[in-house]
Amino acid sequence: MTDDSRRKFLGRAGAAVLAAGLPAARGSAAPAPAQRRRGARAARALRPFGFVIHGGAGTIERARMTPEREAAYRAALEGALRAGFEVLSRGGPGLDAVVAAIRLLEDSPLFNAGKGAVFTSEGTNELDASIMDGRTLKAGAVAGLRHVKNPISLARLVMEQSPHVMMVGDGAEAFARQKGVELVDPKYFFTEERWEQLQRRKEEERRGGPPRASRRRGDALPPDEWKFGTVGAVCLDRAGNLSAGTSTGGMTNKRFGRVGDSPIIAAGTYASNETCAVSCTGDGEYFIRTAVAHSVSAAVEFGRLPLAEAARLAVEKVGRLGGTGGLIAIDRRGNFAMPFNTSGMYRGHVGPEGEPRVEIYRD
Ligand code: ASP
Repeated sequence: MTDDSRRKFLGRAGAAVLAAGLPAARGSAAPAPAQRRRGARAARALRPFGFVIHGGAGTIERARMTPEREAAYRAALEGALRAGFEVLSRGGPGLDAVVAAIRLLEDSPLFNAGKGAVFTSEGTNELDASIMDGRTLKAGAVAGLRHVKNPISLARLVMEQSPHVMMVGDGAEAFARQKGVELVDPKYFFTEERWEQLQRRKEEERRGGPPRASRRRGDALPPDEWKFGTVGAVCLDRAGNLSAGTSTGGMTNKRFGRVGDSPIIAAGTYASNETCAVSCTGDGEYFIRTAVAHSVSAAVEFGRLPLAEAARLAVEKVGRLGGTGGLIAIDRRGNFAMPFNTSGMYRGHVGPEGEPRVEIYRD
């Protein structure tokens, strides 16, 4: 199955919901109120739900990946899917599932978010995140954080405990302190691999920058040198609510307070119960310019396109401008899509049957 083809979480649970909604068996009288209540409870309990995550798109090729490294990525992504499933299967809110999964990925050094974030040109780490509740259209976003261990949790506090949508830098961290959010010494974010990546990028810059083609092929570089590594989650919960979240360290060697799409609502993250939930990864500048996450939602809402088609077209548009990356999206019926225009994207999904499925490469 191709990545942008139509997929759906229904399975056995969906069939059971349909059965629960059927009228009483032929020949019997209308169901008694107690029976109706039981039926309604059963239908609610069995409602389909879906959870989709990504750990960044980029030049990720099977031939260049070691088995150990691949196993580590698979384990981390599966862990995040299980964390989301654990919340959703007991009927918990999608926002809890999104935050639980993203926090795990932020705590893993494998991804460019939280621990493992890339370095700025000055050798610091500046973290961005956003979250959106499709039921209320409320959203929270943070950017330029240097001490917040789990930016996604702060984004949620901005959404739920402030009248604002976006906070940046020192102000955002003052809010974090006020709310008792866990702060860490900036050294916490240091990883050798990201530090070396910054040194290579600086060296390339001194030599006039890498040729675009070599970037695409990832020639002679570590297997995921040109992988974005941002993390994200989108979800349909049992109450029928959609939610989305994204967290990132941004781009290696960024400077001047550069902020990408990840904390920009409508660019890197969007959710509406009327349409879908979306989280993006890729060259942030292109995703901002084409308002990718909201474009997918608008194509579903105003263009009446199926989700997979809307998602595919949005990624194609980024590609036409010269940008690379991908997205994950899920709609209110449980259809989901994971298109990307790079050689790979760390991604996975789980539905009511509870079997997490992780994919990495295009093929
Ligand atoms: N989209 C992110 C940014 O531009 C990077 C990524 O996806 O890894 O900051």
